Amino acid sequence: MIDKKMEQAYNDQINKELYSAYLYLAIKAKFAEMNLQGFVNWMDVQVQEENAHAMGMYNYLLSRGGKLEFSAIDKPEVKGETPLELFEQILSHEEFVTSRINALMDVAEEVKDRASFSLLNWYIKEQVEEEDNVGGVLATLKLIGDDKKALLMLDKDLAARVFNPPVIG
Ligand code: MG
Repeated sequence: MIDKKMEQAYNDQINKELYSAYLYLAIKAKFAEMNLQGFVNWMDVQVQEENAHAMGMYNYLLSRGGKLEFSAIDKPEVKGETPLELFEQILSHEEFVTSRINALMDVAEEVKDRASFSLLNWYIKEQVEEEDNVGGVLATLKLIGDDKKALLMLDKDLAARVFNPPVIG
């Protein structure tokens, strides 16, 4: 049986991952308004990844005999207007998620939940990838500046991203 504190931490994180999907849906709509279809596709893959992250913990909690608790998902606040500003928000959100996953590992260590270590190590590695991916697009956007042609070339690149359901754990 899973420790109650660990169970609570997973439930909180499931909410955060679903919030991430919700925030990214809102940002995807912003890109749709700008008619940047490659960015729309990139965000769509991101939304699916966040849902998969939530489901990974959802299924894990069930497999450990834990209880799922559902709470309200916050209203997403989109803070930027330009692709650059939006990607700055995405990066800072991912850095926040990384800090939450690290906090989850702290709980696992505190309650000596060794089974959670390997699952959470997957999430820790995933966050390194997330920050690298988002940081890569952000760096390109900084290079692009206000060059519209270069922005459309990046949009074309981002159209190629496909969702590969992750094998979690
Ligand atoms: Mg996530």
